[in-house]
Amino acid sequence: MDLGIKGKIALVTAASRGLGRGCAQQLAAEGCRVAICARGPEAAEQAAAEMAASTGADVKGFAADVGRVDDIDALLTGVRASLGDPDILVTNAGGPPPGTFASTSIEHYDGALRLTLMSAVHLIRGVMPAMQAKGWGRIIAITSISVKQPIGNLLLSNMARAGLTGFLKTVATEVAPAGITVNALLPGIHRTSRVDQLVEDRAARENKSSEAVYQEMMATIPSNQMGDAADFGAAAAFLASAQARYITGQNLLVDGGSYKGLL
Ligand code: NAD
Repeated sequence: MDLGIKGKIALVTAASRGLGRGCAQQLAAEGCRVAICARGPEAAEQAAAEMAASTGADVKGFAADVGRVDDIDALLTGVRASLGDPDILVTNAGGPPPGTFASTSIEHYDGALRLTLMSAVHLIRGVMPAMQAKGWGRIIAITSISVKQPIGNLLLSNMARAGLTGFLKTVATEVAPAGITVNALLPGIHRTSRVDQLVEDRAARENKSSEAVYQEMMATIPSNQMGDAADFGAAAAFLASAQARYITGQNLLVDGGSYKGLL
């Protein structure tokens, strides 16, 4: 199916690997001109070059830490100068550190809110005027299954993503008349370096092998397999498509059936 987004300009943050990269790769494969960022210039440029080589698309890599407002401003300036104003924005950032209420000190809250919530707010504020002027836009935020079903030992992530979900729904309603959709994509468990880190953390805390923890996680997934970045990227590309124009304000799970609730 032609998704009708060939030639659109897409910005995907935190995309040198993992789910962000899966989204960027799929958008490039659909013929978008794609900008990605990661904290280090080498990782961003290398990932961009690999995606350009595998898809034939124009993919540019930028260094930006999305937890820093100055970096976001410089990123948006760089993307506008090299590709133009984004038509499609996928917001993503590394996950905040794991921890419980008891183990999380008050100093860590600000950083988590800056990384997981405010990065998306700054990015969306940055791209919105041009999308409104064009009368077309697609905003997709990578959040988590935790916004429907909070995950133990991920206090900061649960908190910040819940706030982001409220922000996205409010903005979706406000910008719908301008032809802009705003949705969240909620990963369940996809095999990425973030999941590898969480497995190591849990294995150490529970005095188990990493393999035992992987098996326990797999047992919670009805499809009996972890997702991968390509599964996730395909869902993002559809939400970015012309055909998805009537889907907005939604939270779409990509979780192999892991979520236990009805809605
Ligand atoms: P990952 O660790 O595989 O990749 C993270 C990417 O973000 C890398 O490209 C890294 O360079 C970049 N990055 C990290 N911090 C950054 C920053 N401050 N500024 C710019 N770039 C930064 O992680 P992932 O599994 O792809 O996860 C992406 C997001 O989805 C995370 O917030 C994670 O918590 C969330 N999530 C992932 C899963 C999963 O199953 N993988 C499940 C639920 C939620």
